[in-house]
Amino acid sequence: MTARVDERLERAFDKRTATALGKLGLATVGDLLGHYPRRYADPGALTDIAALEVGEHVTILARVEQATVRPMRNRQGALMEVVVTDGSSRLSLTFFGKHRGSLYNHEKRLVPGAKGLFTGTVGLYRGTRQLTHPDFTLMGEESDLDSDEALLEHATKPIPIYPAAAGIPSWKVQGALRVVLDTLTDPDVPDPVPDEVLQRQGLPPRAAALRSLHRPATMEEAYRARHRMRFEEAFVLQAALAQRRARTAAEDATARPPLPAGKASLLADFDASLPFVLTDGQRAVGDEIAVELASPRPMHRLLQGEVGSGKTVVALRAMLQVVDAGGQAALLAPTEVLAAQHARTLRALLGPMADAGTLFGAERTGVSTRVALLTGSLGAKARKEALLQAASGEAGIVVGTHALLSEHVQFADLGLVVVDEQHRFGVEQRDALRAKGRVSPHLLVMTATPIPRTVAMTVFGDLETSSLTEVPAGRAGITTVAVPAGNTRWTDRTWARVREEVDAGRRAYVVCARIHPDEETKAAAKDFDDVPEFLDQTGPGAEGAERPPLRAVLEVVEELRSRPELAGIEVGVLHGQMPPDQKESAMARFASGEAPVLVSTTVVEVGVDVPEATAMVIFDADRFGISQLHQLRGRVGRGTDPGLCLLVSDAEPGTPAFARLEAMTQTTDGFKLANLDLELRSEGDVLGAAQSGRASSLRLLRVVKDAGLIEEARTAAADVVRASPDLTEFPELAKAIHAQLDEDQEEFLERA
Ligand code: ADP
Ligand code: MG
Repeated sequence: MTARVDERLERAFDKRTATALGKLGLATVGDLLGHYPRRYADPGALTDIAALEVGEHVTILARVEQATVRPMRNRQGALMEVVVTDGSSRLSLTFFGKHRGSLYNHEKRLVPGAKGLFTGTVGLYRGTRQLTHPDFTLMGEESDLDSDEALLEHATKPIPIYPAAAGIPSWKVQGALRVVLDTLTDPDVPDPVPDEVLQRQGLPPRAAALRSLHRPATMEEAYRARHRMRFEEAFVLQAALAQRRARTAAEDATARPPLPAGKASLLADFDASLPFVLTDGQRAVGDEIAVELASPRPMHRLLQGEVGSGKTVVALRAMLQVVDAGGQAALLAPTEVLAAQHARTLRALLGPMADAGTLFGAERTGVSTRVALLTGSLGAKARKEALLQAASGEAGIVVGTHALLSEHVQFADLGLVVVDEQHRFGVEQRDALRAKGRVSPHLLVMTATPIPRTVAMTVFGDLETSSLTEVPAGRAGITTVAVPAGNTRWTDRTWARVREEVDAGRRAYVVCARIHPDEETKAAAKDFDDVPEFLDQTGPGAEGAERPPLRAVLEVVEELRSRPELAGIEVGVLHGQMPPDQKESAMARFASGEAPVLVSTTVVEVGVDVPEATAMVIFDADRFGISQLHQLRGRVGRGTDPGLCLLVSDAEPGTPAFARLEAMTQTTDGFKLANLDLELRSEGDVLGAAQSGRASSLRLLRVVKDAGLIEEARTAAADVVRASPDLTEFPELAKAIHAQLDEDQEEFLERA
């Protein structure tokens, strides 16, 4: 017997209704049941009309105050104008008819005192807000879908308000659901949450929860139902992650134990050549990783750490252990600039150790290797060479961007995959790279944006977590100052400060939000060297016309080259549209001090490491998100000299944008800033940026607010997966996980 929820809507309803519901993306009875109310209207309280915004699609509960019909002035036909009210504000509804008679029905129904739901898009006509030809349903009337009792008859029950579309107003969805719910029995609705879990959590079965969600007698009942559905979301997600963990734990991996002390090894040589001592944290996490790499089970670890806490060194040491043991390591970086920098750092640190036998296929001696760099825009020759070095095993370390994921890339013996700045990659990409090993390679994922524990649990829930909490000693700290834009005194002072830094042998970044002065903001965003979202479009005036245009790299660089304060100083340029060799040379000239001032886009945001850089000027700072500013700022003050970060903006005090900048000036604690950021951002942004796909399956769950619930779900899910690892005992849960993975997969393919 197929479950009732799989029934197509065309079978359950007449064609017209099914087609209308189809406009909302609903195909089956199950889809309809999963179309949750966006909110509930209190039948005793009319909707606050003053709060409605022009352009918004709304469903409001209001009372008719007056209604008039008159012939049209300029053309044939009649016009009916109805004024509805919430008791204080008014909204006008207009209906046109071919002639007065065609409005007769409306005239009869929309009489003063009539109360009902009205839906449409709020428009503006001569300064008055109005709905044109709104759909409506009135209390005490029969709905066209329902013959027994009117939808709004029970004036005490909350009225569910559904996401609607033209031709399918909220109450039609409600009517369709009523038909389904009236005949729905508990067994009709399979429940992915096992009975014993429901009992332990004190939650109702799925069918009951759906009934309460769509037809609550009280708001409490609706809240309880939402809680139960939220738990289900968390539970299914956590079960999927628990299965992933269990599967990985059962995989075979090649053990890559460290070489015994005294034996010539890359790792030992590297450690000896480090110009600093490792922090206690780096040592502890390093030991943890070393042990896991030595095990025949794949490591699956997330390394979280504040910007500048020294994650890269930890990753390099892990890679060298694997190379020492005869394997290869791949380092996946989110941008070309970062990939090139990692390759450069590695080669510099390894020195002669990175010059292994230049003969193709030469045997590795155990104390030298090669570092290959593979990015999307390499020339054919360089690319071929890098591919050969990876495939032959000549390169013990292969650094690259997502170009590493291409099917042409092969490894002789891939033992470790390191993903730097993970928030830019999805699970699928991680897996694509791991699939290149003969047996499962070990995995180390690094993320610099400190993320709250519950986000880690949700997004990286299949990984074990290590954290670097301290930054290396001897850092002098960063001072952050908000600078008003367009103030000459401040501007002069800013460049004078930059001059001072340069004269003292240090470097300064100047960051702009876009490349070309005459380019649309959004067009520029796309060019940022595969940085997906860089501007905070939610900020006030993100599209604003009254604000001065965003400063652009190409304009600012010209300005700086002619500023008296910077006379004689070479000013470099870096942005995502430059060819890779130019990008690399710009970075190199900046790092060496040849061009100690660098005007760039956010390509320097992640991971770029120039210890001599002490100053950063960020233009239009209010247009960036907090975590992004934090990342950017993390580029300076990485050495022993104090850092200075100037946030230039014209944000007005009292605005959220200003609040963000203020927060930046007050703390450098990434965790505090991350939490604040979460408060200011929508969930979709958080998960969407963190990992492709996941956001789609979370509809009610809020990773920060629902922290406790996620913890409970995680524990419950782990128990269930332990009891039945392949979930044969819980077929409905298995089905729900599959459905969710399919959805994620689809989303991923769409983005690719
Ligand atoms: P992140 O965690 O942001 O990736 P990096 O690994 O880039 O940080 O390290 C930041 C800077 O600190 C680099 O210049 C690195 O060489 C330096 N560094 C790393 N570990 C230490 C340490 N133990 N002592 C001093 N400096 C260190
Ligand atoms: Mg880094």
